[in-house]
Amino acid sequence: MKDKYSKQVEKTNKKNRKKFLKTPFSARIILLPQCLRNSKKCIGEESGPFFICGGCGKCKIKAITESAIKTGYKKVYILKGGKIIPSLFEKDKPCAVIGVACPWEGFIGQKICGEFKIPVQFFPLSRDGCADTDVDIDAFLKFIEE
Ligand code: SF4
Repeated sequence: MKDKYSKQVEKTNKKNRKKFLKTPFSARIILLPQCLRNSKKCIGEESGPFFICGGCGKCKIKAITESAIKTGYKKVYILKGGKIIPSLFEKDKPCAVIGVACPWEGFIGQKICGEFKIPVQFFPLSRDGCADTDVDIDAFLKFIEE
C-alpha cells in the first residue's frame, strides 16, 4: 500500500504536469540526491552543499548528467541536503524542476517548489535509504526527455 507521501507527490506531479511539459529543457534543472552515489568508490568531491561528480561511472549519476546536458537541461545538481534549494532557485531561477528522492524528501521538495511557484516533477528512487540508493535509469532518462 502506498504511503500518504507517495500519494501526495503523485498528486502534485499531476497538477504540475502541463506547465512542466511546456517549459523548455534549457529552463529546467534536475536535483539528484547524494545517496545515489556509490559510497565506496565515488571519486566526486564535496563543494559546500553539493557533490561534484568525478565522472567515474560507478553509479548512475554520470549517465544521468550526461544525458540531461545532452538533452539541453540547464543544470544537474547533486544535493547533500534540501536546505540549499531556496537559494539555488534564487540564483538559477529555473522555470521547472525534476527532483529524484524518496517520497518524504520529494514531498518537502515539492513544497519548496510550490512556494516559488515552480512546476516540479518528482521521480522516486527505486531503492531508497541513506546511501547507495538506486533509480530506474531507463525510466528516468525517458522521463527527462518528455
Ligand atoms: S559517477 Fe560521479 S557521483 Fe557516481 S560514483 Fe562516480 S564520481 Fe561519484
